Amino acid sequence: MTNKKYLKRWDSSLQNNYGKPSIALVKGKGIVVTDADGKTYLDFLGGIATSILGHAHPAIVKAVTTQISTLSHVSNFYAHPNAIELAEKLVAMTGDKNAKVFFCQSGAEANESALKLSRRTGKVRVVAAQGAFHGRTMGALSLTGQPSKREPFLPLIKGVKHVPYGDIDAMRKAISKKTAMVIIEPIMGEAGVVVPPADYLQEVRKLCDKNGSLLVIDAVQTGMGRTGDWFGYEYSGITPDVITLAKGLGGGLPLGAMIALGKAADLFQAGDHGSTFGGNPVTTAAGLAAIKFIETQDILQKVEKKGLYLMQELALIPGVKEARGAGLLIGIELESLKASEVSDAMREAGVLVNAANGTTIRIAPALIVTDAQINKFISTFRKVITGAK
Ligand SMILES: *Cc1c(COP(=O)(O)O)cnc(C)c1O
Repeated sequence: MTNKKYLKRWDSSLQNNYGKPSIALVKGKGIVVTDADGKTYLDFLGGIATSILGHAHPAIVKAVTTQISTLSHVSNFYAHPNAIELAEKLVAMTGDKNAKVFFCQSGAEANESALKLSRRTGKVRVVAAQGAFHGRTMGALSLTGQPSKREPFLPLIKGVKHVPYGDIDAMRKAISKKTAMVIIEPIMGEAGVVVPPADYLQEVRKLCDKNGSLLVIDAVQTGMGRTGDWFGYEYSGITPDVITLAKGLGGGLPLGAMIALGKAADLFQAGDHGSTFGGNPVTTAAGLAAIKFIETQDILQKVEKKGLYLMQELALIPGVKEARGAGLLIGIELESLKASEVSDAMREAGVLVNAANGTTIRIAPALIVTDAQINKFISTFRKVITGAK
């Protein structure tokens, strides 16, 4: 089977919601993936910030195979040690020993859960950011601040106001005592790796306190060590009321979580919410294995260093306007080249990245990416964009 044959079959059997994929991937090891024609690529997108330990990592493979050959599913009628242990880990990572976790499968579901949780405050209004991405289901889409994704599906949930990201005056005007929750990404990933002013989260926290509104940090993309911290907001010193996670949480398997802190931890009552696969033994085994590996190998510290090096080197390349982000979530803003064309040329040159918007290339490699792989990425990127000019 070749790429061409797979893509033809994809085209006739899968819906067109993603547009047409360029290649079919069939194998991966570490941060190298192989397509159906046998060509290999350095995976600098990591399944969109998801495969935090790369592909076929021995720690994940072992945890998953052990678990799936022992007990693959229990449903939410029963407890399972993996879900409990992973929840305890996440609670400890928040620094709030009273925090509590709800498990689901995806980022959209995690944000849906946060939205439902906020209704239990007795209020319904929400403030979110323009350009933000919080998912595609109807509730999550109501939070998402991207008109092109929303407009075909109006009407969405009422009472959600979108304000310019990073603009604290706009937030002050939008929030009121009637606001149930404010949802913010610590760095906007899908919008093109947009970093807010340094004191933004702190100021938003103050406004939420003043108005009795929940502060929901959507760490779906920035979480699980991506920025060099566990959840992406820690640099700000705030404590959120809710943290949503997915992407990297399952170490490449589908796992999401909505963590509620402080008083928010007890807002849901029995029967309020659920998910058949939530806290599945296999996906939580993978999540636990990923966290333990990151902890024992001291990966977070290395992530920050690697990210600073990447940003510094990328910014020096002619044709690059700016390299921004935190840790291994980086947006490379191009001076004049089209991001989609650069992404295609990089793939031709054997490196996977994506065009987050018209002028920004996004990279989010596995946290275990080596210095040699980083240097290879930088030299390929330099060649591609200087050669293309
Ligand atoms: C990807 C993403 C989501 C949606 O996650 P899905 O698993 O695709 O539903 C939500 N929020 C942020 C910040 C994301 O990056």
